[in-house]
Amino acid sequence: MSDRKSITPAHLYRNNDKLIGIGNAFWNTSYENGVAGVVGDLRDGVFTMADGHEFVNFTVCSYLDLDTHPKVIDGAVESLRRFGVLDHCIPRTRVQTSVLLELEESLGELFGAMVISALSTAAASTGLLPLIASGHLGNGTRPLMVFDKNAHVSMGNAKPACADETEVVTSKHHDLGFLEDMCRTYERVCYVVDGSDSLGGYAPVKELAVLQEKYNLLVFYDDSHSLSAYGERGIGYVRSHAPILDERTITVATLTKGFGAGGTAILLDGYSEDTRRLIERFAGPLGYSQKMNAAAVGAAMASAEIHRTEELDRLQAKLRANISLFDSLVTTEQAEATFPIRVVPMTDETVVEAAKKVFAAGFYTSPVFFPIVARGTAGLRVMLRAGQTEDQIRRLAAALIQAGALPAGAGPRPVAK
Ligand SMILES: *Cc1c(COP(=O)(O)O)cnc(C)c1O
Repeated sequence: MSDRKSITPAHLYRNNDKLIGIGNAFWNTSYENGVAGVVGDLRDGVFTMADGHEFVNFTVCSYLDLDTHPKVIDGAVESLRRFGVLDHCIPRTRVQTSVLLELEESLGELFGAMVISALSTAAASTGLLPLIASGHLGNGTRPLMVFDKNAHVSMGNAKPACADETEVVTSKHHDLGFLEDMCRTYERVCYVVDGSDSLGGYAPVKELAVLQEKYNLLVFYDDSHSLSAYGERGIGYVRSHAPILDERTITVATLTKGFGAGGTAILLDGYSEDTRRLIERFAGPLGYSQKMNAAAVGAAMASAEIHRTEELDRLQAKLRANISLFDSLVTTEQAEATFPIRVVPMTDETVVEAAKKVFAAGFYTSPVFFPIVARGTAGLRVMLRAGQTEDQIRRLAAALIQAGALPAGAGPRPVAK
């Protein structure tokens, strides 16, 4: 036997054995059944595969179809030409062109906040959360970091880094009672939560504001799923409803989903220019990795312009109409909710077969099943978009029902979990 040491991992906040052990079987099954690893060319909203199979993607997060909007595409191309450089590779804190500054000013005006851009939400959360944990972004006190159990993986991944700076706990989903207990116990608390959940539902921003007022609670929201799709000028769920928009509320929101561009926006209120510089220097990848490039910025600037016009209202209205149409055709637990994501219930045994049938009929929906989701909650994930036609939605619904979905109004709703 070797006398060299083997390592026993701590696994306090992450565990690849478990992650891959659970997740890879799911991916392999999906892949082997042709409902993952799909490759095709996208033209006019329709994918064509090498074998000629055509389908409409019903699980893309570009809820307003701004990612294929001609003005957004032109914006990307023109910006590259105007600035003449894709990414001048040096930390912006040393030397930068005005490209990011123009974007941040535009988004700042659009959303009424101090905006700092970053390559992605994942990069932003990776960098910001440890700065919050050490008290450098906040009021100088190291907060207890309470991560909501369902916080997106891009936030959850920061737990080990935060835990090296302060104490980290994971709470049940939206557990306000626990949060208040922690607020009574610790001199400062930061709650890390999605503003809008990827399987639907919103953060209790009003109830959290009460705790913010009473205990000086800091809330870190990731509102990626509702930016653009929700609220006036597409300001998202959190900033539409949060009564407290000052240094106690920090929001990140991707510019790749509803916004249809690339990168992310960090939305701050009540922080100084010193804080902005601190973030640019020390928020992990913001200081040491690439920035949004000129093409992504140009796309985002063009998207921001669309957000300022009544075209945004029209796109949001079309999205709402498409959601209502879908709800009038197929039974889901999420029916009547304003967010654009639906899970059409299936069983663990039928869901992959159903996804295959629906795909053969010309629509990609993504199957989710045990062990990725809890037993009894398997289904096909469907995302509505503004650009889907009534005909596409009706034909999708027919294919779903053919594959085992319940028509709307056909019987009792599945029991909410
Ligand atoms: C999609 C998503 C992300 C990833 O955004 P990027 O900007 O691509 O890193 C992060 N958080 C949430 C909640 C998301 O839904």
